[in-house]
Amino acid sequence: MFEEDTIAAIATAVGEGGIGIIRLSGPVAIAVVHDIFRGAKGQRAAGQQSFRAAYGHIVDPASGQTVDEVLLLVMRAPRSYTREDVAEIHCHGGPLPLRRILGLVLSAGVRLAEPGEFTKRAFLNGRLDLSQAEAVIDVIRAKTDASLRMAVGHLAGAFSEKVRAFRQEILRLVAHLEAAIDFPEEDIEELAAQDVAEAADKLRTEIDRLLATAQTGRILREGLATVIIGKPNVGKSSLLNALLGEKRAIVTAIPGTTRDIIEEYVNIGGIPLKVVDTAGIRETADVVERIGVTKAREAMASADLVLLLLDASAPLAAEDKEVMNLLADRRAIVLVNKTDLPAAIDMAEVKRLAPDKPVVRISALEGTGVEELEKTIVEMVYTGQVSQAEGAFVNNVRHTAILRQARDSLAAALATIEAGMPPDCIVVDLRAAWEKLGEVTGETIGEDIIDQIFSQFCLGK
Ligand code: GDP
Repeated sequence: MFEEDTIAAIATAVGEGGIGIIRLSGPVAIAVVHDIFRGAKGQRAAGQQSFRAAYGHIVDPASGQTVDEVLLLVMRAPRSYTREDVAEIHCHGGPLPLRRILGLVLSAGVRLAEPGEFTKRAFLNGRLDLSQAEAVIDVIRAKTDASLRMAVGHLAGAFSEKVRAFRQEILRLVAHLEAAIDFPEEDIEELAAQDVAEAADKLRTEIDRLLATAQTGRILREGLATVIIGKPNVGKSSLLNALLGEKRAIVTAIPGTTRDIIEEYVNIGGIPLKVVDTAGIRETADVVERIGVTKAREAMASADLVLLLLDASAPLAAEDKEVMNLLADRRAIVLVNKTDLPAAIDMAEVKRLAPDKPVVRISALEGTGVEELEKTIVEMVYTGQVSQAEGAFVNNVRHTAILRQARDSLAAALATIEAGMPPDCIVVDLRAAWEKLGEVTGETIGEDIIDQIFSQFCLGK
């Protein structure tokens, strides 16, 4: 399914860099570069060996002017990223050399690539399946080691393999039932249905087990949206600073001055914590302050994790208690701060008001207890999932939705068997599950969804 036209784009990030790369892919990629590249020893692109770099210059054929000093890499089909002929021009990483060289390539009749088009071709030409192609962008955007491990696992096909195994098993069950249809004696059909019920139930459990990783996977991929709430002056900014390990948020002793919501990622044991620092939740007449309070409530509503700060050096205030009531159904950790000061807080009351929440004693000022807080967060997110096994975690909503629907089809098949329906009815449900799962790897999927997935990629990828 090779594309007709040749595409090109700047593959490196915008701005200044040591090296910048222009990538071409398609039938005339090498011929186009041949016309503008002059090797230092007279080499030309057409004769260049695959995967060998040639040193030379890009020369504007119209003016004979040298544009930049470059290395040229040629990768011939099918052993390339896209499985088409690919050429990469490594020039100096400035906007001008890159744009000039891209301009020369485009004026030779090459089309500017759309975002993600190189990877889309890699998918269409069978080098990557759809889930692997999606992982490419996850590798690029990985925020921590753990999210990178997950993305690289997906890219290597760890997740696709699981889904393929599910599909194969379903196909085996379909074949088993169809064989029974060919011999329609009552007892054979019944035996087949029983076998299938057992296997489908096992499969459903396996899919559920995989789905159980979805939340951790999503958090590793997108970050754990975290709000720090508490009265003014309780130490929210100080805690954020302690987590960041450097002074970035503004810390002040005047109540309620942290008015803006600041968003930054902190690496907590591999979990990208997206911190939203909010103003206190004290009801106040001050207009500006109230905007901060409203934002805090909103942030809490969409947060994955709430960190509630209490002051160890003062008794619990009415507003502290009010907030503790809001924590009931949320993932939250109660932090008792300022433990370096003489204690005045009633810890028994804290436990009573937040009975099922972990309570961690810290001093944001001195940095004590922060390690225990990090450990608590990691345990909360992984909820028993093995770290290092992230490679096969479900990590995006598309995959989650597919797995859920496939599981529902299996449940429907089980109900059909239970109801004593004939094998061809069971086969319908099983086939639906099989079809659905094929959308993960892209074996059964519409072009519109494919386009939508690749449009989220960056230019040149
Ligand atoms: P926020 O209003 O909740 O963001 O509170 P800040 O982080 O601005 O802290 C308010 C004041 O409390 C500052 O003077 C901090 O130095 C102080 N503070 C914060 N954490 C601690 C702590 O653990 N111990 C002590 N002794 N003081 C703290």
